[in-house]
Amino acid sequence: MNPLSKISAAALTAAALTGCATGLAKNDTAEMSASSTALSANAGETGHIVTIGDVHEYRLDNGLQILIKEDHRAPVVVSQIWYKTGASYESNGTTGVAHVLEHMMFKGTKTLGPNEFSRIIAANGGRENAFTGQDYTAYFQQLEKSRLPISFELEADRMANLNLRAEDFVKEVKVVMEERRMRTDDKPRSLTYEHFAATAFVNSPYHQPIIGWMNDLENMNVDDMRNWYKDWYAPNNATLVVAGDVDAKAVFELAKKTYGKVKARPIPLLKPQTDFEQKGIKRIVVKAPAQVPYMLMGYKVPVVATAKTDWEPYALEMLANVLDAGESSRFAKELVRGQQIATSVGAGYDLYSRLDNLFLFSGTPAKGKTIEELEKAIRTQIQKIKTEQVSQAELDRIKAQVVASKVYEKDSLFYQAMQMGTLATVGLDWQLMDQFVERLRAVTPEQVQAVAKKYLIDDYLTVAVLDPQSTPAPAAANGGHSHAH
Ligand SMILES: [Zn+2]
Repeated sequence: MNPLSKISAAALTAAALTGCATGLAKNDTAEMSASSTALSANAGETGHIVTIGDVHEYRLDNGLQILIKEDHRAPVVVSQIWYKTGASYESNGTTGVAHVLEHMMFKGTKTLGPNEFSRIIAANGGRENAFTGQDYTAYFQQLEKSRLPISFELEADRMANLNLRAEDFVKEVKVVMEERRMRTDDKPRSLTYEHFAATAFVNSPYHQPIIGWMNDLENMNVDDMRNWYKDWYAPNNATLVVAGDVDAKAVFELAKKTYGKVKARPIPLLKPQTDFEQKGIKRIVVKAPAQVPYMLMGYKVPVVATAKTDWEPYALEMLANVLDAGESSRFAKELVRGQQIATSVGAGYDLYSRLDNLFLFSGTPAKGKTIEELEKAIRTQIQKIKTEQVSQAELDRIKAQVVASKVYEKDSLFYQAMQMGTLATVGLDWQLMDQFVERLRAVTPEQVQAVAKKYLIDDYLTVAVLDPQSTPAPAAANGGHSHAH
C-alpha cells in the first residue's frame, strides 16, 4: 500500500537484511550518553528514572541505556536489545561480519548449547528473531509478560558469554552465503540496488552491502567473529527497549539483576568516513536475468543526524510524501494512472540514518514505455516541484494522511519499540519520535520547494538501470522476511 515502505523494502532486501530494516547509528554516542545522564540527574524524583510522556528512561552503572514504554492493553511484552554497530561499521575486506555474527549469536554460550536460546523462547510461547542494518544489530523477543525474566537472562548471557566455535562458524557462514545468493544474486532488483549503492557512495560505508560481498564472506573466519563481538557487544554500546504490560520500576530491578552483571568495556572510536562531494551525475547499467526493466535514481541528501538546517530532513520527508504517499499522491495520479508511463514508481527517504543518505526514486516502465521515458517523467515531476510551489491545500492533505498513519503505528508495541531503538542507536534522542508529527506539520510549501532546488540536482544524482537478460529468471518479487535460526 504505502509506496514508501515499498521502496525501502526494495532497498532493504537489496541490501539483504535479515528481517532487517535499514537505519544508521551516530558515532557521538558518548556525547549522547553524557547528555542523557545529565537529564537523569535533573529529573531526580524517582532516583535515576526519567519519565517523559509514557516512556521511562534509565541507565545502569555499566552504561546500558534502558527505555520502557508501559502499555497495558494486553498482557504481552516486547523486549529488544540494540547494539550500536552494523554494516556501516565494517571495514573493507570483512564486509558482512555484523550480520554473520548476528547468526552466530544463536550458537550458544558457556552454559547454553547451539540454538538452545531459540528453543527456550519457543517453549515459553515466545517469538524471537534478530536483524542487522547499516547502523544496528538488534535482537528481540515477544512474550507473555510474566516471561520477561527469561528474555533478560538469555540476552544478558549472550552479551557476555558467547561461545564462538570454529565448527559452528564454518557451517553458519555457508548459510549466509546461501542467503546472499537467494536475496541478492538471484534477485535482479536487489542486485541492481547493491550496484547502485556501491556507485552512489564511494568512501561512505553505505557503499557496502549489509550482507557483505561474496568474496569477503568466502574469506571470513571465526577470529573475525571474535573481534567483532569483543569490539561492539558491551552494555555501554547497547540500548534495551521494553514495551508492553510491565511496571517500569520492576523492569529496572530485573535489568539490574541480569544485564547489570555484564561489565562495561572500551568501545572503538569510529572514524567519520563522510562521503566526498559528488561532482556530477553517475550512471550505471546492471545486466541480469529479469522479466522487466527497473530503475533507481538517488540524490545525496542530509538526514536528521547530519543536517545543518534542522527543518530540511522534514521538508525532504514531506517532498517524498507529496510525490508518493498512496493513491492520491502525484506519482500514482500522474505517472501510473494518468500518463500510464509506469507500472510502479516510488519515492522514498529515510530521515533516521547515521550518515548522509539518498533521496530515492525507483520504478518500472509500463508495457511499451522505456526507462528513458520513465526517467524523463520523474524529472518532470521534480522540475514541477521546483518551479511551482506545492499548494497549502495539497500539503495539508498529505500531512493529514501521514499523521493518520503515524497514529496507526502507535497501535503496535513492536513498532514503537523499533522507533525508540532506532533513534537511540543512530545517536539521536528517542524523544524525536514524539516530535515527528509536530515537525512535519511545521513544514511550509516554501521549504518543500527549497529542498528540491537545493538537493535534487544532477551533480548529486546516481542512476542505475536494470537491463533484463533473457536467461530464465527466478521470481521477481521483493520483500523482506526474517530467517529462522
Ligand atoms: Zn541472516
